[in-house]
Amino acid sequence: MSIILNIVIPCYNEQEVLPETASRLLYKIDGMIKFGILSSKSRITFVNDGSKDDTWRIIRELHKKNPIISGINLSINRGHQYALLAGLLTVKDDADVVISMDADLQDDIDAIDEMLLKYQQGCDVVYGVRSSRDTDSWFKKKTAELYYRLMNVLGAKTIYNHADYRLLSKRALIRLDEFQEVNLFLRGIIPLIGYKTDIVYYERKSRFAGKSKYPLTKMMEFAWEGITSFSTRPIRMISAFGGFIFLFSLLMLVYILVRYFTGKTIVGWASVAVSVWAIGGLLLLSIGIVGEYIGKIYLETKKRPRYFIESYLKDFEQEEKEEF
Ligand code: UDP
Ligand code: MG
Repeated sequence: MSIILNIVIPCYNEQEVLPETASRLLYKIDGMIKFGILSSKSRITFVNDGSKDDTWRIIRELHKKNPIISGINLSINRGHQYALLAGLLTVKDDADVVISMDADLQDDIDAIDEMLLKYQQGCDVVYGVRSSRDTDSWFKKKTAELYYRLMNVLGAKTIYNHADYRLLSKRALIRLDEFQEVNLFLRGIIPLIGYKTDIVYYERKSRFAGKSKYPLTKMMEFAWEGITSFSTRPIRMISAFGGFIFLFSLLMLVYILVRYFTGKTIVGWASVAVSVWAIGGLLLLSIGIVGEYIGKIYLETKKRPRYFIESYLKDFEQEEKEEF
């Protein structure tokens, strides 16, 4: 029996790559439909994450030309994780299986075949894992490696070198829908679903066109969010300040020791000064970290909606708009 596949692609200011991504994917999906591997009900769904450029206009045009292309328009930019979730949960009822990938063709679309094969062999979750990071800078490679290690030490089981290129079966998507958390880190949530999982290796390419929407600062923010699942910036600043004071106290310790050994010390003053600074810094750092978690609870208790879908283009039906 042929599979109904839906490929979900979050897009933020991707006008440069979108036409190319769409045509390559269409070619691929069309072929698989002709060979009877995929059902003709298969779709490619672009989720416009509140882009400021022509992304949504391009998605509408692509949809007009080809019914295989669907489009979801979010009311505002919510970030990659929410855009992805919006797409996954919206298409889940109409598909047997969903593959999520980025818009910039960094994820090798030929890995789709192997992912589907694993699905046919009974897997509910198939992770796309980068076999090489040659296109990334040395700095990005090293920090990523450290991050995965840190995550594992902290008990969050993430898949090494896996971003958000993955296959999820309908069953897994239904389970995903049960995670109602506002602080979203899909790479941490998906392994919690369980079921039979497997890995497909692929070579990560460079971005086809356009700029990365994840510069270093955003990347660091995302990493931090993965660890605490979310954060509140002012509290984070307190932690940073605490850390700074602590380091300063260490410098002071060195200074005091030098003075001590050169015989220019005032007895008693040194130990008091160092401990006041060290403990003060550590306390601030700790309050900051505890605060991170309180901030997280605060955001969860508000239960704010995670995204709003302004319109959904599918199957040449009239554009579905939200109703008031
Ligand atoms: N993206 C999004 N919303 C955002 C930022 C990014 O939907 O606020 C999408 C973006 O269009 C792309 C994917 O997330 O499809 C990954 O972004 P990018 O390729 O810029 O990240 P990188 O690969 O450089 O880490
Ligand atoms: Mg990218």
